[in-house]
Amino acid sequence: MDSSENTAARARELVSVLMPCYNEEANIPRLAERLGAVMDAFPAYEWEAILVNDGSTDASLVEMRRLHAADPRFRYIDLSRNFGKETAMLAGMDHARGDCLIIMDSDLQHPPEIIPEMLALWEDGYDDVYAKRRTRGKEPWLRKKLSLAYYSLLQTTTRIPVLQNCGDFRLLDRMVVDALCAMRETQRYTKGLYCQAGFRKKEVIFDQDDRLAGTSSMSALRLVSLALEGITSYTTAPLRLASVFGFIVSIVAFVYMAYVMVKAIAVGDPVAGFPSLMCVILFLGGVQLICLGIIGEYLGRIFIESKRRPPYFVREADGRKSRRNTPGE
Ligand code: UDP
Ligand code: MG
Repeated sequence: MDSSENTAARARELVSVLMPCYNEEANIPRLAERLGAVMDAFPAYEWEAILVNDGSTDASLVEMRRLHAADPRFRYIDLSRNFGKETAMLAGMDHARGDCLIIMDSDLQHPPEIIPEMLALWEDGYDDVYAKRRTRGKEPWLRKKLSLAYYSLLQTTTRIPVLQNCGDFRLLDRMVVDALCAMRETQRYTKGLYCQAGFRKKEVIFDQDDRLAGTSSMSALRLVSLALEGITSYTTAPLRLASVFGFIVSIVAFVYMAYVMVKAIAVGDPVAGFPSLMCVILFLGGVQLICLGIIGEYLGRIFIESKRRPPYFVREADGRKSRRNTPGE
């Protein structure tokens, strides 16, 4: 049997809750209140809540320090600058000590009241309990549509199942956390990594609330770049598409060439000139540039990953200045 099964010999299990925060000063007190209530309601577990300050420009850090002083179950990590949500989550995962880890947004779009349901499924033996949105809350119509179209595109180009309509609200067993921490790419697309890691998955349904205060920091540009990140880190299908397309164009060009030659020899037809030539040249030029761009995207990833820089730096954690900054190594 798995050694993790003999819970009898062990003390209370530690549940970590990870919340990346970027300019959430208005939400942190209410978040702590609601999460605190859930933590208090389940004394059978030991709890730690980790707030990751992702270079906020407001007083989020002050709120975190205050919270930590009042209730040491609330820990915090202050990153040296804004690294983006994906990297902030990695920082939290590196620091979490729990037997399981719950990830949720700190703008209260993810209701902490779902956590007991997730924990029950974890106790039933599931390793990755993800919360699926029944409703997506207040979101622009176009973003909703584009996001759904994107998921189906990603699914058709890869063999790993892609989960639709799931954010980063989920419970992960220690095994899954370790697996995710072992994948140390700098440009992270965590939604893809969960699927890449595998393990026993189970869904719970929840209604996504609207953001409590502040505005979403996910601008259209940031979402597009994350979407590209997803494709280039998840699948090499675009590269294959480029070669398939090149192959098809070559065949068509060859057939057309044969046709023109035969026509010129047999009928003595003068070959049609400039306009058609121009169209073909411009079309092929465009296709070549697109293919170069695709290769460039992947090359850029190789360039960035090959530097092997640490994905983030910590300034302060739980009231102490960081003295060692080689995360996860
Ligand atoms: N976030 C972060 N770093 C960033 C941007 C966002 O840690 O650079 C956090 C943010 O504080 C929130 C979560 O990521 O807890 C989701 O961000 P947001 O609500 O802006 O995005 P949306 O919910 O619209 O996808
Ligand atoms: Mg949000």
